[in-house]
Amino acid sequence: MSLFASERFNLLLANLQQQVCDDRTDAWPSDQLRAMADAGVMSWDLPAEWGGLDLASADYLEGLRLLSSACLVSTFVLTQRSAAVRRIVTTDNTASKQQLLPGLLSGEIFATVGISHLTTSGQHLKTPLVQVAETTDGFVFNGVVPWATGATQADFLITGGTLADGRQLLAAIPTDGAGVSVQSPVELMALNASQTGAVKLNRVVVSQKQLLHGPIEHVMQHGTGGGAGSLGTSALAIGATAGILRHMAEEMQRRSDLREFVAPLQAECDQLTADLRLAATGEHAAGAAAVEQLRRQANSLVLRSAQSWLAATKGAGYVSGHPAERAVRESMFFLVWSCPQPVLVANLRELACSGSIVP
Ligand SMILES: Cc1cc2nc3c(=O)[nH]c(=O)nc-3n(C[C@H](O)[C@H](O)[C@H](O)COP(=O)(O)OP(=O)(O)OC[C@H]3O[C@@H](n4cnc5c(N)ncnc54)[C@H](O)[C@@H]3O)c2cc1C
Repeated sequence: MSLFASERFNLLLANLQQQVCDDRTDAWPSDQLRAMADAGVMSWDLPAEWGGLDLASADYLEGLRLLSSACLVSTFVLTQRSAAVRRIVTTDNTASKQQLLPGLLSGEIFATVGISHLTTSGQHLKTPLVQVAETTDGFVFNGVVPWATGATQADFLITGGTLADGRQLLAAIPTDGAGVSVQSPVELMALNASQTGAVKLNRVVVSQKQLLHGPIEHVMQHGTGGGAGSLGTSALAIGATAGILRHMAEEMQRRSDLREFVAPLQAECDQLTADLRLAATGEHAAGAAAVEQLRRQANSLVLRSAQSWLAATKGAGYVSGHPAERAVRESMFFLVWSCPQPVLVANLRELACSGSIVP
């Protein structure tokens, strides 16, 4: 039986759908993350030698898609933990693996990533946001990691910086280490319970033992588990859409006039779900371009679906606290989260109606 057909997984989904997480910066989806850990979700992305299930990419993405259809904020937090896990699993540094992976598997350790300044954030700035100096026995990190989800809750931050010669490195830095200052979460448009904020690094000493990858040019492109706009981000956008359409379908039970709008959105969502599976197995007709194409289309779909739900629920849906208004705010997240420049440009063109909507 497929993992996702199991009673345990379906109970988890039902549980996540019921326990709506507050959208406040002092909330944290601990119950949802605990429920995921109890259902074995934390083992999905770990290799068998570390006690994990090491799910194939298509299965892992299917899991993310289903979880995000039930609870976007906790699934988003899970992806940031998974991004940290990937960087640890792919390091040659066995000591770090031994130190971190068992706790990440059990859910006792929470790690997150602050890596956007190496991919998407502050790319127009002349000076790297985190600068690194090499010492005789390690490195010293200085600067600001602009974005780290759940940093306030994390035991370790997987982050990186840039040396004067342009080479970059990634390290596992304890959040209670000397010189590490986790800032209060910023007030966001939505997903506030992700407790996302900046982390200041003031002369943080990083030993060779904490080093995960590099120093090397473009460290994020070197076998460290994917950069911005990966299929995982599309899985969440498609999953969030599925959640929205589930609500709309419930509304449709009472209002058959909605069928005209729900049916095409659902067909598009089903098509993107199929495309996601093909892309994950490398069988998508667009080849490597499928990753970017999917994210563009998924962004477009989640935005249109959320706004359709709001329009369908009318003024009642516009009242603060209604799930439709929350879905609209949450859908906007995909315009800014881990969004590579070509995807952003395509989304802007669509919003400006200045280019054709790519099929
Ligand atoms: C809720 C949330 C959670 C996130 N969680 C994480 C996380 O856990 N880990 C992680 O690594 N990242 C995370 N991110 C970061 C995310 O993936 C993107 O990197 C981020 O949203 C990019 O936005 P930015 O403001 O940093 O971009 P920037 O490109 O730095 O833009 C900032 C500002 O700079 C100006 N600007 C931009 N480009 C130019 C230009 N060419 N010339 C002049 N001015 C310019 C604009 O005014 C812009 O508003 C998160 C983001 C959000 C919103």
